[in-house]
Amino acid sequence: IEERFDAIVVGAGMAGNAAALTLAQRGLKVLQLERGEYSGSKNVQGAILYADMLEKLIPDFREDAPLERHLVEQRFWMMDDRAHVGLHYRSDDFNEERPNRYTIIRAQFDKWFSSKVREAGATVLCETTVTELAQDAYGRVIGVRTDRHDGEVHADVVVLAEGVNGLLGTRADLRARPRPDNVALAVKEMHFLPRETIEARFNLKGDEGTVIEAAGTISRGMTGMGFIYANKECVSLGIGCLVADFEKTGETPYGLLERFKRHPSVAPLIEGSEVKEYSAHLIPEGGYNAIPQLYGEGWVVIGDAAQLNNAIHREGSNLAMTSGRIAAEAIFQVKSRRDPMTKENLSLYKKMLDDSFVIKDLKKYKDMPQLMHIQSQNFFLTYPQLVSKAMQNFVRVDGTPKIDKEKTTLRSFVKARSWMGLFGDAYRFARAWR
Ligand code: FAD
Repeated sequence: IEERFDAIVVGAGMAGNAAALTLAQRGLKVLQLERGEYSGSKNVQGAILYADMLEKLIPDFREDAPLERHLVEQRFWMMDDRAHVGLHYRSDDFNEERPNRYTIIRAQFDKWFSSKVREAGATVLCETTVTELAQDAYGRVIGVRTDRHDGEVHADVVVLAEGVNGLLGTRADLRARPRPDNVALAVKEMHFLPRETIEARFNLKGDEGTVIEAAGTISRGMTGMGFIYANKECVSLGIGCLVADFEKTGETPYGLLERFKRHPSVAPLIEGSEVKEYSAHLIPEGGYNAIPQLYGEGWVVIGDAAQLNNAIHREGSNLAMTSGRIAAEAIFQVKSRRDPMTKENLSLYKKMLDDSFVIKDLKKYKDMPQLMHIQSQNFFLTYPQLVSKAMQNFVRVDGTPKIDKEKTTLRSFVKARSWMGLFGDAYRFARAWR
């Protein structure tokens, strides 16, 4: 391809679409390349969409975006094999004019997002895999090579939005491959049910939605979580754990998913459903300490490819959109000054990202991923079992004096973890959380 572009964006997921849209809106000549048949065809997400980050890109997105339900409720479940202890937050405040969070189906949503990128003036080529970065004799990135005939194309800057695997970046030695203890493997199914059944089972009316995040013995002592999201006519359900833990334990993702679905708290929610989709995908979960070099000579990296994912709050797509938008704004500023896309000039992207919630949030939880990994047996097995027993002891009325019940519960905790262990766990958790 002879034509030269201001920027090439690799990938048309949340990050790539945000970057390509912003660059095109600022009048840059943009080429976006996506290996899938269409934007979204390869993408997997729960999925919760965070409106604030999309609103900054497309203020009137609610008019035509394919949204499922707006969230009025969030449930957190700590599970053992037969029970769950829940923390539920539901508020009518979320039935607002401009709802804050929605469930979406990524294949439909990404297609819509991509149409906005095209409308803004970017050239979007699907079914085009970028095979490697084109570099000059000094190692500067000058474009990409694709699997198309005559497929080398040049630009001032390449935006890597290729998702968690980030093969292009690793092949070109721009960063190391993500470590198995820094990525989770998640599997997900879509369970179809009549709309009224979903609304009755999840206590919803109209377009109200709810999500359930679940942790505990469902991950068999591995670092991981399950999720259940109510869409209009289907329920997305899945579970993910660190790849390093799967390697160590020999557990399988589909084995975990089957157990999760059979759990007595989960099975009634999906009973009688028809499963139409099954997918698997990696999630970057290493947090702040796993973030690679974010920019260099002629390139920047955004979204999952840059490991920008907040596993504690289950946020990924919003960090992807925000890093994409910020990278594009930084590129636009460099371009406006007629400066070259050097490493020094592109460091502006990192400065702007550092000032945003993306890096601030990841920095806040920087010790959490390692703590969760090292202590996974305690946090995902021992404590959920203890808490479940304690709750049952608390609510069961059987003539045992309450003071004896409290003593039994306390003894069970001390027996399982010792006083030192309990204080140590609380201290380490509080330190990692602050
Ligand atoms: P992706 O969405 O993965 O997009 C990368 C794109 O690049 C893809 O379209 C891919 O086909 C393309 N590509 C890759 N290599 C090439 C190549 N060589 N050439 C051309 N194209 C290429 N986040 C949330 O905010 N809320 C949630 O509820 C949530 N739930 C999740 C549930 C699951 C099961 C998973 C796996 C993730 C979830 N996430 C969630 C995380 C979220 O999906 C990601 O953070 C987000 O998709 C990252 O966007 P991205 O654009 O960086 O990567």
